[in-house]
Amino acid sequence: MHQKMYGTARLTARIEPWMEEILSDPTRCRELIDSYGSPVNLHEYSAMGKNVKELNSAAAAHHIDFQIYFARKANKTMAAIDRAVHEECGVDVASLNELRQCLDRGVPAARIIVSAAVKSKALMELAIASGATISLDNDEELHSVLELSSNSAEPLHVALRLAINHPAIPATRFGLPASSWLQVLNDVELRAQLTVAGVHFHLNGYDAHARSLGIHQGLDLISQLQTLGHKPSFVDMGGGIPMSYLESATQWEDFWSTLGTLPEGDESLTWKSDRFGSSGKAPNSGVYPYHQDLTRGAWLDKVLSYVPESGAPSVASALRSAKIQLRCEPGRSLMDGCGLTLAEVAFTKKRSDGVPLVGLHMNRTQCRSTSADFLLDPVLVPAAPAGKKRAADSAFLVGAYCIEDELLLRRRFEFPQGVAAGDLIAFPNTGGYLMHIVESASHQLPLAANIHFDGTQWVPDDIDREKLSF
Ligand SMILES: *Cc1c(COP(=O)(O)O)cnc(C)c1O
Repeated sequence: MHQKMYGTARLTARIEPWMEEILSDPTRCRELIDSYGSPVNLHEYSAMGKNVKELNSAAAAHHIDFQIYFARKANKTMAAIDRAVHEECGVDVASLNELRQCLDRGVPAARIIVSAAVKSKALMELAIASGATISLDNDEELHSVLELSSNSAEPLHVALRLAINHPAIPATRFGLPASSWLQVLNDVELRAQLTVAGVHFHLNGYDAHARSLGIHQGLDLISQLQTLGHKPSFVDMGGGIPMSYLESATQWEDFWSTLGTLPEGDESLTWKSDRFGSSGKAPNSGVYPYHQDLTRGAWLDKVLSYVPESGAPSVASALRSAKIQLRCEPGRSLMDGCGLTLAEVAFTKKRSDGVPLVGLHMNRTQCRSTSADFLLDPVLVPAAPAGKKRAADSAFLVGAYCIEDELLLRRRFEFPQGVAAGDLIAFPNTGGYLMHIVESASHQLPLAANIHFDGTQWVPDDIDREKLSF
């Protein structure tokens, strides 16, 4: 696509065909902004089907029993749940409302895992009553769940959240080490009340090797649980399955090495010469993984092919011989290709010292992950009235919150054909966390509307009519 806007240090986004189609239709884009406000989150979920198939094929090649659970916290739309179910995925939920919405949407309880980091009584009660699987974080939670389920007719389904113990894997706040769980379960009374259905872990980062180690430790714990009389049937390795939103690996590498040489105070590439926490030529590990070499299917193949030491079975063959199902909970890698955020240019101006600025009807919580910046080049859709004066500048994008440092993105952008109030700017591939995880309605500015393409037209997603309970 001919680029009317790009980063001074370029990071060209991979654009799905549906994005290309809508972005080449300024009239349609303008209608969506007029109907739903700015910004508006657009969704089209067909890429989810492709992403699911890629993972399923990699698992099938290793002849393992495999089940995907979509990590719903990555994207809040209800249509994403529908699509995940259509693709025969389960759903991983992180709160009472996420669980209730999935049940209301008809997701079978057997296909739901509750992995909330902190669980309210109402959440535990609903999980128990519905028969969803609860991933237990600790012994106190286990006791609460047992107490609440004592009068329940529904059999209790629990998984133990395992804190992987390995010198190569950082300490975690989540779950308990295997030895602690075994100690807890040794309690004679507990033995009579509880059968453990599976073992769950989730690791920070995207490393395949760490998942291989985690699955092996999960299988070890499973065999010990079996000797205690439990009948665990799965290891769930959580999320963190990598994807790649950029077209070119070289651009990504160049970006970081250029940033490393940026003199202090030089704003030619980033606001206040921001290096996004990187001290050298590579991103720090907290940066959202916009570019990864190994993604989805190839990554899963690596996880499953890993052989711990000569003679020991591969991860896949250990799973097969133990007759244990492997589960995973991808969020961002399932949503890859499914979302886009569209916003309207409000004004162009200059900072008091002359640095060009482009103001948008949007705030910085509306396109952001929990780490660093949104590192993909947006796409300019010229929609300003003809004859409007266009500023042909190299500028920063500023937003609606009344804060001096309210930058939508902290990189600088080029506009070879200019930019004007009334133009639209699209942020590609925001469906995985980037549109929802930290969005706020500060200043009484409403949250962005969510819409999706239903095959014929753009329609509002039901999530924006939901009331939250506690
Ligand atoms: C956040 C989370 C996921 C999803 O992680 P992705 O990196 O988006 O794949 C899955 N499982 C658990 C328990 C999580 O906390």
